[in-house]
Amino acid sequence: MSVCCLTLNKSYLRTNETTMNQPTAVAMDAQKIKTLLNDSEERYKERLLKKAANTAQIALDFGQGEQTPPGDLIHANVLLCRIYTTNGIYQGKESFLKQALQYITAAKKLMLDHLEHTERLPEILLYEGITYSYLGQFEEAQRLFNESVEISGNREDEKGIFRALIAMSKNELLQNNFSEALQLANDAFSFLSESAVSADASLKAEAAERIAEAHIKSHEYSESLEYSQQLLTLARKIGDIEKELTALKFIAIVCGVKANYKIGMQYFFEALDKSEQIEYRPNTAQILVNIATIYAHLYNYDDALARYQRVLEEFDDVIDSNTRTAVYNNAGNIYYATDRHKQALGCFKRSLALAEEGNFSAMIVHSLAQLSRAYCRMEDFPTAQLYAQKAEEHLESTGIENGRQIHLLNLSKLALHAEEYERALEYGKAGVASARKLKDDVSELRGYRSIANIYKAMRDFENALDYQTRYSRLQEDFSKTQRNRRFLDLEIRHAIKEQQKEIKALTKENEYQSLLLEQSDQIARQNEELLSANEDLRQFAYVASHDLKEPLRMISSYSQLIERFFGADLPEDKKQYFTYIKDGTKRMSTLLDDLLRYASIGKSSIDKEAIDVNRTIEICCFNLKVRIEENNAKIDVSDLPEVYTNKPLFTQLLQNLLSNAVKFRRPDVDPIVLVRCEEKEEEYIFSVADNGIGIPEEFKERIFVIFQRLHSRNKYEGTGIGLAICQKITQKLGGRLWLESEEGVGSTFYFSLPKR
Ligand code: ADP
Repeated sequence: MSVCCLTLNKSYLRTNETTMNQPTAVAMDAQKIKTLLNDSEERYKERLLKKAANTAQIALDFGQGEQTPPGDLIHANVLLCRIYTTNGIYQGKESFLKQALQYITAAKKLMLDHLEHTERLPEILLYEGITYSYLGQFEEAQRLFNESVEISGNREDEKGIFRALIAMSKNELLQNNFSEALQLANDAFSFLSESAVSADASLKAEAAERIAEAHIKSHEYSESLEYSQQLLTLARKIGDIEKELTALKFIAIVCGVKANYKIGMQYFFEALDKSEQIEYRPNTAQILVNIATIYAHLYNYDDALARYQRVLEEFDDVIDSNTRTAVYNNAGNIYYATDRHKQALGCFKRSLALAEEGNFSAMIVHSLAQLSRAYCRMEDFPTAQLYAQKAEEHLESTGIENGRQIHLLNLSKLALHAEEYERALEYGKAGVASARKLKDDVSELRGYRSIANIYKAMRDFENALDYQTRYSRLQEDFSKTQRNRRFLDLEIRHAIKEQQKEIKALTKENEYQSLLLEQSDQIARQNEELLSANEDLRQFAYVASHDLKEPLRMISSYSQLIERFFGADLPEDKKQYFTYIKDGTKRMSTLLDDLLRYASIGKSSIDKEAIDVNRTIEICCFNLKVRIEENNAKIDVSDLPEVYTNKPLFTQLLQNLLSNAVKFRRPDVDPIVLVRCEEKEEEYIFSVADNGIGIPEEFKERIFVIFQRLHSRNKYEGTGIGLAICQKITQKLGGRLWLESEEGVGSTFYFSLPKR
């Protein structure tokens, strides 16, 4: 173990020291270290960087014993270098990159001490180079990549060569050498397709990413699209979230540039989600800026400003000064467009200061012109003049076109204010020409209006009218575009909401699934308990209903005796009590019978036989003769099949349904009950439809629960057990029971019965 590595581990592991009881020099067994390193690799792959670092560090710290294979120590250091480099990129922090360098140096040293491990040299050189790339030390990076390619070449290691080429391409990209980057990426791509590892999806993804990026940076959007889409597919295939988000972002950028805002926004939001998930901060900031810019295009200023502000507040440490300047400028434009002049001035001044600091000529001109324009609007003409003067100087010295249109229109305004009409006209017309050249509709529009006003001031009404007409025409087109974009914004909002709902649902589903998995064991156990509880309950109901009948019979007989002996002596109103007792005992007896019937279902296994359902209905009708006749009911039966099932249960089921169908009649309508059957492939669906009182929607579930009734006994007699029995029977016979009903119109009860 090298000294360098030791000190390094100590300094890093402060967090781990608190989690581990006592750092010990005793070597863990080699297998454990390997497991830790594998775990760390896995976590790194998921971009859980902190966890990955902790795990690798534990492996490294424990692995200092003499028995630890140096190969594992090298592995741990290389892994930590990769983790720290990635973290440095994600957090935009140089200190992490420097730490990554220390790890890779340690790995290198270890390798020199153990020459049997030189096979890792190209890889070490590669990661070292990548870290130098991001530290901005491009030459050093290039030197390391060259060395890596050379060694890989000597060993005919195709993967090594490919990866070094890809890293070189990134090195060029980071220096804004786009064509060199593209060349290298293309070389890598062709090299890969001819190599033995051409099928490796993660290598393919690396190539696609580099090519897509190089195209995007060179503004070759159409060219980048194909590779970005390839990248998206590959990234999803290999489960690389960082590459997936890069692909989404690239596709979104292309959509945005092509004014396909709706799809662009969807991709941006998806990318944002992923970027936030892995805490890739500079990337998140960039995506937020893009989203804000599209919102601004769609005239959704509030959403745009909210994003710009978030970037400035949360991500100021990771955005480059170019982006920061643009953000202030864009926010200024929004404030200006919405008449918040003070805020607009603040933003433009800030963007000017930043542009001057970074020497961004185009941005300097832009900010100066915007400041002059804002002061004109506030009618502070001397200050406006001052900024216009500065803008002029910059335009002269740099020859920049962008921003010139705004500047010329400002000069026109200032001249108009000074009543120098000819000059005002001259500037105005030049401003319009410049705006047209730059395809800046808004400035063109402003120009027409300004010129119309100048002509008006000159009392040249003919020309004033001409420019006013041009203004109106363009304004009309412009309003149309504006309207369309606002609609689009609404659509996007809707789409995003839907997408978020979908994501939520998906996340929920995932959570549910893992929960379900967890619970399935528990459910199985509970089912068992329930089964035995059900059996206990059934037994209880059976015994109770059976045994309660006896005392009930006693109450009934003795009260009859009392009535017979003493009834005559009682006054009329007290005689009434015997009727109550009789009613009560009769009801209780029915209840106990029903309960007994309910408890008996499913007690034993059931015998099945072939039954003619037409015949069953005849039996039911016979049993219900009195009820049917009393109610003047008509039972209409058609086309009933022969079924194979348990006769007593099936009869009971139909009889209960028929009985209810007649019982729950409307007072003024004679009951008509239709019994039908529909034959399906696997089952029969029977229906018993009535024209009775119907069942309100909210009670459709409840009526199947035992003892649940919807009416008082005075209105419709009953125990509330009938449907519970029906449900139990259908289950027992292997079917289902359900209903359709409309209050005041009638109900149809359906039940299915398997054919076999
Ligand atoms: P019971 O008929 O003894 O009241 P059930 O269990 O058979 O008990 O029915 C439960 C409740 O469902 C009934 O009280 C009634 O309110 C409602 N119900 C059942 N069948 C019908 C039907 N055909 N039409 C309207 N309501 C019904």
